[in-house]
Amino acid sequence: MRPSPRRLFQSLDRLAMRPKSYSFVGLGRMGYEMAYNLFSKQHAQASDSHFVVCDVVPEASQNFCQNFLKQFPGAQISIATSPEEATLASQTVITMLPSSPQVKSVYNEGIIPTLRSLPEELARTTLCIDSTTLDVDVARTVAKNVLQTGAQMVDAPVSGGVTGAKAGTLAFLVGGSESAFKLAYPFLSFMGMKIIHCGPSGAGLGAKICNNLILGVQQIVVGEAMLLGNKLGLDPAVLASVVSSSTGNCWSISTNNPVPNSLPGKSPPCERDYEGGFATGLMLKDMGLATNLSSLAGTPLPLGEAAECIYNQVIQEQPTLGKKDFSSVYQYLKNLSEEGKKVRVRYETE
Ligand code: NAD
Repeated sequence: MRPSPRRLFQSLDRLAMRPKSYSFVGLGRMGYEMAYNLFSKQHAQASDSHFVVCDVVPEASQNFCQNFLKQFPGAQISIATSPEEATLASQTVITMLPSSPQVKSVYNEGIIPTLRSLPEELARTTLCIDSTTLDVDVARTVAKNVLQTGAQMVDAPVSGGVTGAKAGTLAFLVGGSESAFKLAYPFLSFMGMKIIHCGPSGAGLGAKICNNLILGVQQIVVGEAMLLGNKLGLDPAVLASVVSSSTGNCWSISTNNPVPNSLPGKSPPCERDYEGGFATGLMLKDMGLATNLSSLAGTPLPLGEAAECIYNQVIQEQPTLGKKDFSSVYQYLKNLSEEGKKVRVRYETE
């Protein structure tokens, strides 16, 4: 369906700006930092660029604009009140949302109908980059519908956490056609260091979900080992240093260690009462994505299922940990141990 002339006329000035305009939808822990890097580097390269931010929480957009303008007083930045407005304004639209329901609603109710309403040549020059971690099936369906409008789309979930987002050192795992990957590359390189084309639509997400399956399991076992070490009287810094230089080394022990003062000179979320990292609720979501995928693929996931169950129990039994970094699973285990309780993993039986 094409738009009414009146609506097109109203948005004509915005449409003229589309090629040099970049919209970012979802300014949460990750999106805020990613948008900041993208916009500041793009602004340094072309000062006539226009930036648009959009979040369901208006204060998130206002806060972003204020901070951005403080650092770049001459920058052109505005707030879109909906994904529809963001798509009308910009040829490049990046989304960073919690998960499948939000991506479905932002694309199916906002971005895709807007692309359908645009003149064909404008839809054709639009690029959508979704960096959310979500269900592969949902992402593929959304991408198929975007492609049908003539626009291009990649799934580009990230690895590297809030620290990587802030430093601009994220790894992007990209799914989509070769041509969409090439279009997305320059924008992704403003926000990350490693940009890997994993395959067709959904492949970036497949890789991301496999990575987080490993990470989710690892963080629990690191919590178990650090707690056991503590009971054995080991200094947490000594134990962290031994494991970091031994075969048990992994990101969860050497970068995201859950025990305060275990990583001298580093500042993992446990040093800030587990604030500011990757929320336990999001890790539970990712473990669910992995267990769903494995049941569709017919592969066994005994540790993944156990980990999903444990993160679920963390949130049920200690809800305040749901928004804290997922390394707080250590705190959950510690609390249980102090209360003399055991963790019961409830496997589903056939
Ligand atoms: P977050 O919850 O902090 O941010 C999500 C943002 O999206 C919020 O600002 C929210 O208001 C906004 N939002 C929700 N619905 C919206 C809508 N309909 N329209 C516009 N905005 C909307 O989450 P996050 O930590 O930034 O994570 C985002 C994604 O990145 C998730 O899929 C997560 O799994 C993934 N991820 C997170 C990390 C991390 O360390 N936080 C690391 C890697 C990947």
